[in-house]
Amino acid sequence: MARIPLNKVLPLKMPISILIDPSNRCNFKCSFCPTGDKELLKSVGREEKIMGINSMNKIVDDLIVWKQKTGKIPKQIGFYKDGEPLLNKNLFYFISKISKNNLTEKTYLTTNAALLNESKCIELINSGLNEVRISVEHVHDKGYQDVTRTKTSYYRVKENIELLYKLKNQFNSQLHIHSKVLADLLTENERKKFQNDFCGISDSIALDRIMGWSDSNNHDFSNGKIDHESKKNSHQICSQPFSRMSICANGDITICCVDWMHQLKYGNINDVSLMDAWNSEELNKIRLDHLKGEIANESVCKNCDYFKNQSSEDNIDLIKEKLLDYCNSH
Ligand code: SF4
Repeated sequence: MARIPLNKVLPLKMPISILIDPSNRCNFKCSFCPTGDKELLKSVGREEKIMGINSMNKIVDDLIVWKQKTGKIPKQIGFYKDGEPLLNKNLFYFISKISKNNLTEKTYLTTNAALLNESKCIELINSGLNEVRISVEHVHDKGYQDVTRTKTSYYRVKENIELLYKLKNQFNSQLHIHSKVLADLLTENERKKFQNDFCGISDSIALDRIMGWSDSNNHDFSNGKIDHESKKNSHQICSQPFSRMSICANGDITICCVDWMHQLKYGNINDVSLMDAWNSEELNKIRLDHLKGEIANESVCKNCDYFKNQSSEDNIDLIKEKLLDYCNSH
């Protein structure tokens, strides 16, 4: 489905996309992900957290009120940010509450699939989830162990995905299974193996590139695969604060999915409604800083590989004056 250019729809009464992190803990320790480095997380004060059921209920209640007041729902809600969502035992309860209340056009979950088993596959299918995005880490045991820094077996993960695919077909479920791998970590033959192994057990597959993170000049999680200096997109203003919302496992609300240090937070769901946070002074100030190019040197936005990767649909430079008027009259 083609993406709508953001300059045609901004400013928004509600984010296009909301990302919710059911768990910032992970069963893997991947070298390209900040969550894989416990010492680093300790040094920036990020604590491990599994989202509790009260926070989930608060999010659902806030979304219901937001929908009633504006007549709008986000285009998509993703269950994932910093960790592995299947570590949260209330995940399927949460997804089904969002689905049953029609609080978004589409729900998706990103998982490494290592914790799937038959009962979890059935719960996942019955939750009403629209799409599961499976992050495959490699195409053999040795590769899996090197990348995830655990004893995970590739064949076990593949069996889990096979089982999910078999069950969803058996149940006539519309769940879309998308399997993806980081092409940068594979040889040409390994890429072909991925395609051969996953074509028959997924509805779609993709060879992705390593993505960038915030504060990328200070922390390179790309293992040298991203050339920070030469990378640049064609625009100046980052669209994240104007179009997306991320909710961390501890309830903090941040502007951005790659804010792994949670530096860009503008509220917590335990203190503020999602609608009030979206319309808050704190977020407005961040938006104005981005529009005026006044990003502080210590901000994680100053050096951000993820921003440099944004597509032309995210280019909002053309409506800078309109957004400045909007934020100034806030
Ligand atoms: S510049 Fe990077 S860290 Fe800042 S909001 Fe944009 S994507 Fe997020």
